[in-house]
Amino acid sequence: MGGTITAWDAVIIGGGLTGLRAALQVSRAGLSVAVISKVHPLRSHSVAAQGGMNAALGNVRGEGGAVDSWESHAYDTVKGSDYLADQDAVALMCREAPATVLELEHMGTVWSRLEDGKIAQRPFGGAGFPRTCYAEDRTGHNVLHTLYQQVLGRKIPVFEEFFVTSLVRSGGRCMGCTALEIMTGAVHGFASRATLLATGGFGRIFSRSTNALINTGDGVALALRAGAPLKDMEFVQFHPTTLYGTNILISEAARGEGGILVNRTGERFMERYASHALELAPRDVVARAIEEEIARGNGFDGGYVHLDLRHLGPGRIMERLPGIRQIAMDFAGVDPVEEPIPVQPGQHYSMGGIDVNIGGMSGLSDLYAAGECACISVHGANRLGGNSLLETVVFGRLVADSIVGDLPKIHESAMDTVESAMKETETEIREILGRSGGESPFALIRELEETMFLHFGIFREGQMMQEGLRKIRRLRERSLQVSMTNRDSAVNQALVRYLELEGMLQLAEVVALGALAREESRGSHTRRDHPHRDDRRFLAHTMATIEEGEVAIAYKPVTLGMFKVEERGY
Ligand SMILES: Cc1cc2nc3c(=O)[nH]c(=O)nc-3n(C[C@H](O)[C@H](O)[C@H](O)COP(=O)(O)OP(=O)(O)OC[C@H]3O[C@@H](n4cnc5c(N)ncnc54)[C@H](O)[C@@H]3O)c2cc1C
Repeated sequence: MGGTITAWDAVIIGGGLTGLRAALQVSRAGLSVAVISKVHPLRSHSVAAQGGMNAALGNVRGEGGAVDSWESHAYDTVKGSDYLADQDAVALMCREAPATVLELEHMGTVWSRLEDGKIAQRPFGGAGFPRTCYAEDRTGHNVLHTLYQQVLGRKIPVFEEFFVTSLVRSGGRCMGCTALEIMTGAVHGFASRATLLATGGFGRIFSRSTNALINTGDGVALALRAGAPLKDMEFVQFHPTTLYGTNILISEAARGEGGILVNRTGERFMERYASHALELAPRDVVARAIEEEIARGNGFDGGYVHLDLRHLGPGRIMERLPGIRQIAMDFAGVDPVEEPIPVQPGQHYSMGGIDVNIGGMSGLSDLYAAGECACISVHGANRLGGNSLLETVVFGRLVADSIVGDLPKIHESAMDTVESAMKETETEIREILGRSGGESPFALIRELEETMFLHFGIFREGQMMQEGLRKIRRLRERSLQVSMTNRDSAVNQALVRYLELEGMLQLAEVVALGALAREESRGSHTRRDHPHRDDRRFLAHTMATIEEGEVAIAYKPVTLGMFKVEERGY
């Protein structure tokens, strides 16, 4: 296999918005930094973000002429989170938001504009003001290209199509990682003083997901295996409007621009579920409403409702939502100018992730995490649309600052430790390639996705989840019996899928155990057998670790202080 070892001040795993923003910041501080990504950075899921990024710029007035503020943004975020977000992290993100949007503009992002030339802002779910800045409905594409151009400009090395297989841990510290070069099959070692995971979400452990196929949560599983605790993993966001048939996202921007939801009788049913906010209630509320309508027989055959944009008129649809129109035409044969779009809820976002402190440091020294793979806890039990793009760029920068500020010396033994980790990885890969138990990694992934959606979907219930957990464990046993028909490590997709699957199965079990233990309903976690929020027992973060090979669940307090915990109403 014959890989190489290199040494860096910082290694950043992930080439999405978080990873690229962090890389820029570390490089600006004059340190050596490498980015590793399993796909070309521009294929990271960030590129698919549609609707926009929240910042209280106050360019568009709210009800009665009120002007937005970062405090209002923080309030909406904490309320949207069903009070599970850490309020210090939320305040930090919301305070940094306006400068972050302007900084991106200075780097080259082409934000859509108002008539007066200011950056345009549109209403989004759960927000008291039109606060979401956007580049048509292709915001992620625009911002990711901006940051990638900056990374190219600084000549930051990017190891693309390198799949990180393990974090190297020694003496209670993270000393780097090993990675499989997909093209050649070589295993390389990266020794680093600090390592940042920016590997995105784990949405693909569910079927009906809006996420890219690469969103398998590798970094979250790597952290768990290296001994860093995970947080709030049972909180998985289901987006109300994904295209029926393919589950491609139909951005909340479609409702932000005025789109309405109707059932098969033609009723605008959100009036019964959120009489004030209607379609712009937070995602957990709208997704449950649609599921309820479908369950009551008010959906269309096959299980969907209609998202109607026709009253917006062709001009507005083509100017503000051109990507959505194209997706509806290409993948459902429906032109939203003339017909309503068939939509159903689908998995969309991972609120939980690697537990980090406000500086982005995980439970393992010198290992940091930011973006969707991390849980610094700005989303709590339910994320508001537009807050994730914001989180990636704000914390990509701030966590890089803490890396630069805290950088330890390179450990003398780091190169040797990384070298022996490379050998271990090579042996493991050879062992996997030698298996011939008859199971297919592709089929196992499909079964896992179906199991998760069925047993840990929008509505959950104890018995059903127990059964799901048994299925996950059985899949884990079966995964040891895979067959590799191609026994070469170069360009071996089955091998990469298998390496992903190992992590996905671990994460699925953590989600399952967290969901079973949390006997309440909060945000995205809705239990039919425990329909109410229980602050006495569960106003707390779920912490998951592996102890003696088993997942252990514990709780830790939520950081409150800015806003009082209240009942949520919309
Ligand atoms: C369709 C869609 C639309 C969205 N729209 C919006 C929106 O409008 N507004 C909003 O706020 N949020 C939106 N979101 C959410 C938001 O886009 C994501 O949360 C965010 O972009 C995640 O960025 P990230 O940098 O954390 O990770 P990602 O962009 O997912 O990047 C992860 C990176 O990690 C790398 N990686 C992963 N595993 C490995 C490994 N084993 N080895 C090497 N590299 C690895 C990948 O190659 C990739 O480069 C949307 C999400 C989806 C799915």
